[in-house]
Amino acid sequence: MSTHQLLPSSPATLPWRGLIHRYRDFLPVSENTPIVSLNEGNTPLVPCCHLADALRTDVEVFVKYEGLNPTGSFKDRGMTMAVSKALEEGSRAVMCASTGNTSASAAAYAARAGMTCAVLIPSGKNVALGKLAQASIAGAKVIRIAGNFDKALEMVKQLTERYPITLVNSLNPYRIEGQKTGSFEIVEQLGGEPPDLHCIPVGNAGNITAYWKGYKELHERGLTDRRPVMWGFQAEGAAPIVHGKPVPEPETIATAIRIGNPASWKQAEAARDESHGLIDMVTDGEITEAYRMLASREGIFCEPASAASVAGLLKMNKLGRLEELRKRLGKKTLRIACVLTGHGLKDPSYATECAEPPVEVPTDMAAVLECLGLEP
Ligand SMILES: *Cc1c(COP(=O)(O)O)cnc(C)c1O
Repeated sequence: MSTHQLLPSSPATLPWRGLIHRYRDFLPVSENTPIVSLNEGNTPLVPCCHLADALRTDVEVFVKYEGLNPTGSFKDRGMTMAVSKALEEGSRAVMCASTGNTSASAAAYAARAGMTCAVLIPSGKNVALGKLAQASIAGAKVIRIAGNFDKALEMVKQLTERYPITLVNSLNPYRIEGQKTGSFEIVEQLGGEPPDLHCIPVGNAGNITAYWKGYKELHERGLTDRRPVMWGFQAEGAAPIVHGKPVPEPETIATAIRIGNPASWKQAEAARDESHGLIDMVTDGEITEAYRMLASREGIFCEPASAASVAGLLKMNKLGRLEELRKRLGKKTLRIACVLTGHGLKDPSYATECAEPPVEVPTDMAAVLECLGLEP
């Protein structure tokens, strides 16, 4: 499959300089925008044959491995835009509420821009260790409140309205602009065509909003002839959009999507409805199964929240929804893209909990052989 260039002016032979350079024509930047970049984007779209086999129907499945962004999640796509624009507008400080990845990303881009970064994180074990380490080492002011993410976001909104600090949550429209480039890359990587179906985890709902915006813009500019169907997946204990009302105490092992009142709720519903898609939910058990399967069958280590996209795809297939979609679209082979939003190393403790611990043996060849089931 050849890579299709949406922008002939930026040949692939040039070194990658980040997504603002690459997709400048689609982004609200000018000659005067100081670009703060860590060469984010350009993440691989990896075919997953075992996953396709597991679906037992005629499909091609790809995962967009967003864990390979500079700070290990897709948040970098939005942050390069948000921090560049904040700097252009003369801001000296940025702030966000975060389940972890937004703060890791904001801290890194602010550090690079020479700006101050403050992050409000939820209580207890709700932020994975790796994410906290990233924000701290980058020099962000990390403040933990007793409440959950939704409460933290409420406080950050009020603070940034009253003080000269730029909000870099996905309510910041530049975040969405940056994140929409994920769909540009998928289309290019699929040879100039969108997938038939796009699966994505939904937390605060900025990312589903951004991908849909990206696909729509390509279609509006006549660069693609259609748009994909969008399937979004929330965790069962944090599924406000599925239930149609906020969840006051959201609960799930997938901490990045433990959100009870998504900021981009309406936009997520619009993506669902305009694309004739759906927003459904998956249990922690289903998420964990997909998470382990991706690591152990495909060699792809993502964080638990990311696996919600694949868990959702597997669930919908069991319910016959893929077959239904195939008929509706009149396609023999369905082409599916799943976004894996963050890297597995963000949350090593969950991986350790889910996997077999190392076997302890004496420093002795016979013991190792026995362990491997080999004859001495
Ligand atoms: C932020 C995040 C999500 C959720 O994205 P939203 O834009 O909030 O819906 C999912 N997975 C990971 C790893 C994230 O960091």
